[in-house]
Amino acid sequence: MQVLLADEYGFCFGVERAVDMVEEAVAAGETVRSLGPLIHNKQEMQRLAHDGVTTIDSPVQITRGETAVIRAHGVTPEVQKELEEKASKVVDATCPFVTRVQKLAARAAAEDRHVVIVGAPDHPEMIGVKGYAPDHAFIIRDESELDLLPRLRRPLVVSQTTIKSKTFFDTAEAIKSKTDDQVEIVNTICSATRDRQEAARALAGMVDAFYIIGGRHSSNSVKLLAVCKEQCERSFLIETEDEINPTDLIGAQKVGVTAGASTPEWLIQKIVKHLKGIGNEQSIGLMP
Ligand code: SF4
Repeated sequence: MQVLLADEYGFCFGVERAVDMVEEAVAAGETVRSLGPLIHNKQEMQRLAHDGVTTIDSPVQITRGETAVIRAHGVTPEVQKELEEKASKVVDATCPFVTRVQKLAARAAAEDRHVVIVGAPDHPEMIGVKGYAPDHAFIIRDESELDLLPRLRRPLVVSQTTIKSKTFFDTAEAIKSKTDDQVEIVNTICSATRDRQEAARALAGMVDAFYIIGGRHSSNSVKLLAVCKEQCERSFLIETEDEINPTDLIGAQKVGVTAGASTPEWLIQKIVKHLKGIGNEQSIGLMP
């Protein structure tokens, strides 16, 4: 049984960078506290907790002598300032793709223009970006929420980094009806989610079974499962190797593997090894 990895899988650039920055601080002997879970993966969070990394819900929980971490989603300028005042050091792991959206919003607000961000209003990334243009920005999920917007002044339209392009461009087009001014549309969608989906789709058509490694509450992992299921009926979303049922692999010659953007490489390799072990046992007749 062959185990094949998709061309793109696992940690995205921003998450890998954030984990690396935290590991550097831990290696330097710092007491590291992340504002919100650094990453949506239980196993990786357990590993980091073992290294002493703890999570806080609010900047008030930080005390002198500690290192505060801003995760890849970023925060508002107020929250950043509060962390800088309280902590001995702040590790700013905001993904550079998110920083770009924050800067675009701040620039438009400084020019007294409106900013419309297409995305989920309660998502931490959106809350952070809005904080860069607090009196000028509006967040809408899609064009169905157009009525929530006032008449707009020389608007800038940007997107949450993880939404679908179609949602963004349809909404941006509809926003033109809310202003008499020129609309500046800047596509700030990051390609990480799309790249993983396209690579999974390409592989799913060539295999007999597919394992997607990721959290059951991770939206990008759940979407990967849906993409794989379209091509490969035997597709499963798993968090650890314990969830693999060898009988699901009966007769499988090729097994595909991918992982959500928050799944660490060590966990992926552990599961690949486990799958290869099942393949070996089946080939020598120890399993059905
Ligand atoms: S999904 Fe994209 S924007 Fe978000 S952290 Fe990863 S690389 Fe950055």
